Amino acid sequence: MAKKIISDLNVNGKKVLVRVDFNVPLENGKITDDNRIVEALPTIKYVIENNGKAILLSHLGRVKEEKDKAGLTLAPVAARLAELLNKEVKFVPATTGALVEEAINNMQPGDIVMLENTRYEDVDGKKESKNNPELGKYWASLGDVFVNDAFGTAHRAHASNAGIAANIAETAAGFLLEKEIKFIGGAVDNPVRPFVAILGGSKVSDKIEVIESLLEKADKVLIGGGMMFTFLKAQGYNVGKSKCELDKVELATELLKKANGKIVLPVDTVAAKDFSNDAEFRTTSVADIADDEMGLDIGEQTLVEFNNVLKDAKTVVWNGPMGVFEMSNFAQGTIGVCEALANLKEATTIIGGGDSAAAVIQFGYASKMSHISTGGGASLEYLEGKTLPGVAIVDEL
Ligand code: ADP
Ligand code: MG
Repeated sequence: MAKKIISDLNVNGKKVLVRVDFNVPLENGKITDDNRIVEALPTIKYVIENNGKAILLSHLGRVKEEKDKAGLTLAPVAARLAELLNKEVKFVPATTGALVEEAINNMQPGDIVMLENTRYEDVDGKKESKNNPELGKYWASLGDVFVNDAFGTAHRAHASNAGIAANIAETAAGFLLEKEIKFIGGAVDNPVRPFVAILGGSKVSDKIEVIESLLEKADKVLIGGGMMFTFLKAQGYNVGKSKCELDKVELATELLKKANGKIVLPVDTVAAKDFSNDAEFRTTSVADIADDEMGLDIGEQTLVEFNNVLKDAKTVVWNGPMGVFEMSNFAQGTIGVCEALANLKEATTIIGGGDSAAAVIQFGYASKMSHISTGGGASLEYLEGKTLPGVAIVDEL
């Protein structure tokens, strides 16, 4: 099932609608991290370098009421994009209507027009987020072909992705979406084995479907993070004050049974009396957690055992930090897993999940990984084995 990608399209002289993910973090109207803009550059450059007219659409944040609009304008994003490309980006402060149509009619091949935040349309009956058919049809009418490059919203069927695709001649994936399909889709559908999944993060309840899906697909599933304690409890350990979801212990028991030895649980943990980087801490066997202690990271012995499993892996998917990596005393487990993956020379290593990706970048391992997903929720749903609407709408070759 090969998908059509942007390089399969003839964009010469065409009006190319491009759905990008410019949902960047903003503080007082200033962009604090432009990574998503940078990630979209190859696709935008492809359109303009091949004489297409690039018409960019993106959402930014959540626009519920009229008063939310001013703080969520895409104007600063257009300015940043122009800087990065060293080229004019014509920003249209509207999502529909005469201003938009005029700007597009005036385009020459190689020009870039960017529309205002697609979610401005949500003020009036959630037209964008509920995929209002008229809106999708209208946006589609503005272009000749459609390129979806917004992986971050691929788990949603909105007017600016599914709506446009349903009303236009051709839909292709941009280079960023293509990369996500290749790595995450590839790992889920057709992994080179041994395939090892590493799951962590805070709660089992957030990750039930991803655990179930990866238990079926992976050869081993290593579990760390806050969720490990629900599994340890299921095995009869005392977990003290650690994060533990009592209503999920039964489920953890079932998963352990079903896993038939595939799940590898930590043997030690870094425990503290308080959820604080100033708290005293010690590494202890999981069999020896005191009632007044909470486990905030995996221990050194666990890392040795995880490394043992990982050393032969050919595909690794990692979702969820191993500990409270935001506090330096509880970051070693997460750093240790970064190091383990960085040392795998022949494996494909894929990081999915907002906090996991942030940790890998923060600790300086980004360039050592095969792929760091740009979508938090979307990568989780993809790993759960779900069909993402934003991927499904892309034409087959
Ligand atoms: P991702 O965004 O990668 O999917 P999650 O959102 O599921 O990851 O979880 C990330 C959070 O889990 C982090 O903020 C981290 O502090 C927390 N966490 C990890 N280990 C523990 C633990 N042992 N106890 C409490 N919280 C934890
Ligand atoms: Mg998260």
